[in-house]
Amino acid sequence: MPLIDLASDAATQPTPPMRAAMAAAPVGDEQRGEDPTTAALEERVAALLGQEKALFLPSGTMANQIAFLVHCRPGDEILCAANAHVYGSEGAGAAVLAGAQLRPIETGSGIFTAATAEAALRTPRARSPRSRVIAVEQTTNRGGGLIWAEHALREMRALADRHGLALHMDGARVMNAAVAAGVPAADFGAPCHSVWLDLSKGLGCPVGAVLAGSAAFIEEAWVWKHRLGGAMRQSGILSAAGLYALDHHIDRLAEDHANAAELAAGLSQVPGLTVWPAVTNLVFIDTSASGIPAAALMAELAREGLRIKAEGAFLLRAVTHLDISAAEIIRATTLIAQTVARLRGQPGG
Ligand SMILES: *Cc1c(COP(=O)(O)O)cnc(C)c1O
Repeated sequence: MPLIDLASDAATQPTPPMRAAMAAAPVGDEQRGEDPTTAALEERVAALLGQEKALFLPSGTMANQIAFLVHCRPGDEILCAANAHVYGSEGAGAAVLAGAQLRPIETGSGIFTAATAEAALRTPRARSPRSRVIAVEQTTNRGGGLIWAEHALREMRALADRHGLALHMDGARVMNAAVAAGVPAADFGAPCHSVWLDLSKGLGCPVGAVLAGSAAFIEEAWVWKHRLGGAMRQSGILSAAGLYALDHHIDRLAEDHANAAELAAGLSQVPGLTVWPAVTNLVFIDTSASGIPAAALMAELAREGLRIKAEGAFLLRAVTHLDISAAEIIRATTLIAQTVARLRGQPGG
């Protein structure tokens, strides 16, 4: 039986037509501004996210870090959710690279209000860190794939403007948010000073992220891209996958959301499991009522050919994507239900 990989939407494989588009891409030296395919991708993404300019990068992690490097001086402070990727999953990059301090805001959903952010701002004085950036995640990864509403982002932008801060969006799954909400991605991108989308998650590309912002922001971002070794040469081979994904892999994210809703509905019937509402392509499964540790369930399912990820002692995450069919969702649901029943029947299970 083939492996069903629900551990991450980063698992997607480039499709044959995507590979064909990559092979056929016209390319040039990106560092000299001569790669037409990368230039085309940057232009498309800037418009898509409601920004002036954009910059192709090797990864979303680099997009977050370059944004912080441009926005911050050493000693500055970045507000973010305590369960944000920038706080827990980027090797403390903001501290190491920008010399900035992350200020985590406790929020299970990953979403916080402008009032909460305002209460966390520092009084300007010599001994305090300087509040500088508000970082939001669209969708909230560990918050359950929830969507920051446009009005919430506009309020956050107004707060940022009042205090001279930058609003940054980690848009790893901003296209999932746009498709699920049925609005243009620019509704979410335009209120931000900087925003990026990941090509290598739900959009199904092998590599890449695109960071967008004002022309002045992107000019500075270019300096950091080069300094960090992220400037490439014939990157059009990679950007072509991005252009292909923008044409063919956005509307279909709705299938991933339908599959996630189906999985959540099926698993919510399983005794011992509590499932968070699936809004986009992330499904969180709480096993605490069953007494089965997440790591034990994960290991047992892996033996059966199903990969999902333990996110906490009694919490697992399943992610739907391009390479997961509706039939596989049915098989996965059955497999999880059977495995939970079996583990619950065991002493100590
Ligand atoms: C995956 C992810 C990133 C990092 O993106 P990479 O392209 O893997 O470096 C950042 N933020 C969130 C919310 C993510 O899910």
